[in-house]
Amino acid sequence: MQNKPIQKIVIVGGGTAGWMAAAMLSAQFDSTQCSIELVESQALGTIGIGESTLPPFVGMLRRLGIDEAEFVRETQATYKLGIKFSHWQQRHTQYFHPFGRLGRPVGSYDFYQCLLRARAAGEPLGLQDFSPCSVMAEQGRFFFPEQARHTPIGGANYALHVDAVRVARYLRRYAEARGVKRTQGLVEQVHRHDSGFISRVQLQSGQSIAGDFFLDCSGFNALIIGKTLGSEFIDWRRYLPCDRAIAVKTAATETIAPYTLAAAEKVGWRWKIPLRDSTGNGLVYASEFSSEREARGQLLKSLASEPVNDFKTIPFVSGHRREMWKHNCLALGLASGFLEPLEATSIHLITRGVELFLRYFPNADCHRALVREYNRKISADYEEVRDFLMLHYCATDRQDTPFWRYCRQLPMPDSLAERLELFRASGNVGQTRDELFRPSSWQSVFEGMGVRPQNHSARVNQLNLQELKQALSLDKHAIRAMVATLPKHEQSLG
Ligand SMILES: Cc1cc2nc3c(=O)[nH]c(=O)nc-3n(C[C@H](O)[C@H](O)[C@H](O)COP(=O)(O)OP(=O)(O)OC[C@H]3O[C@@H](n4cnc5c(N)ncnc54)[C@H](O)[C@@H]3O)c2cc1C
Repeated sequence: MQNKPIQKIVIVGGGTAGWMAAAMLSAQFDSTQCSIELVESQALGTIGIGESTLPPFVGMLRRLGIDEAEFVRETQATYKLGIKFSHWQQRHTQYFHPFGRLGRPVGSYDFYQCLLRARAAGEPLGLQDFSPCSVMAEQGRFFFPEQARHTPIGGANYALHVDAVRVARYLRRYAEARGVKRTQGLVEQVHRHDSGFISRVQLQSGQSIAGDFFLDCSGFNALIIGKTLGSEFIDWRRYLPCDRAIAVKTAATETIAPYTLAAAEKVGWRWKIPLRDSTGNGLVYASEFSSEREARGQLLKSLASEPVNDFKTIPFVSGHRREMWKHNCLALGLASGFLEPLEATSIHLITRGVELFLRYFPNADCHRALVREYNRKISADYEEVRDFLMLHYCATDRQDTPFWRYCRQLPMPDSLAERLELFRASGNVGQTRDELFRPSSWQSVFEGMGVRPQNHSARVNQLNLQELKQALSLDKHAIRAMVATLPKHEQSLG
């Protein structure tokens, strides 16, 4: 097996993970060198949820050469500038977590440190006034940042709200046009070589599909990575206590907000995701603190219009497989793990998984050094997302329900405790190169949750205060003035 190139990749599962992987791999490999076959069970279906994405999703579409306007039309997509959080720090408080730039450095000085210095001198400056995306979202406006690079809104970024079922359909068409073979059927058995490597999967029909490498995209079923290879599931419920979601779609409202709404509720939080012809709604809650009936009642009460489909309850556990790549099987999507959807990170982790797989693409022997490095990197991503999500809960000041009182005393992993301490002490967030969330994301959520640094860096004391105030004021007013001239979000949708 040594040094033999991979000639056949088998993907088990045709949800967002399976078809994203098929599309991304088919764009890389000539099917005569390395063929790809995807097997999916129509009877089992897909989870059909996952409507909110992050900016790297748009980057992935571009790298695949997909026409963005066509994709937006066909997946009923709308534009997303970030997430609006309501009632998280306390009831009736709100904040925005924007994409893209947040402030500009003043000379060689970090923007956030400059802001802290100006505030210490008595300037009542709001962080989000320096984010083009926050200001656009507040005014319900949208413009393509790449067409406004050298303007006051330069550095803004965006993602999409999409219909998950239509995304899988679109990517399937893309992948099939590049030679991916689709087989319909239920995988009943997974066969292994003596080495433990997977040799083939067997369908209910009796058909066998052999391969050199297997991508487990079988959703919560985790058919290969979990059931066959027994990769342990690391359970993070002690950090992220929510373990149920109820989802329902309603008819579209007249105004289509260019952001996701995440509103904290008594026993969890509620999402509202605007699509073109409908709105995705859901309540994420902790079953220890609420019955399904009570949760459904809360969600129903919040709906702006009539449901257009049935309520769907989805139990889940936040966490991931210890080895997301084992032998010749790599798990993607829900088969590899799931972190509750508060920051819409799952689809991003699929893209990241495929990109890392391509970076460490093995021969058929799957050298253990490659496997180790992949697992290390993707586990670090999961840990970073876990910490970021947990911050939204553990920094709350809410004490009005048993759920929120419980969140206030959640035991923090050291990585988050240290980050919090660093931010409180100095306004730094301790970023490393590979991390998904930039300092601006951490700053937005820290501040939104009422966490403030005690000091700024002594370095910025060297700046002339009047000049500093003037630079900040110019940026803030230029953003607001330009945003006021931009089209409303609905107009940008065409
Ligand atoms: C409540 C909730 C909200 C979410 N919101 C977001 C969000 O806003 N943003 C985001 O990025 N992500 C979100 N996610 C995550 C997102 O839904 C998933 O990451 C994404 O849909 C990928 O799913 P999947 O393809 O791994 O699984 P699935 O969609 O479940 O697909 C699994 C596939 O495997 C097939 N399969 C399973 N077993 C077999 C078998 N034995 N034989 C043959 N085929 C089989 C199924 O038929 C199906 O085709 C959310 C998840 C939940 C639970």
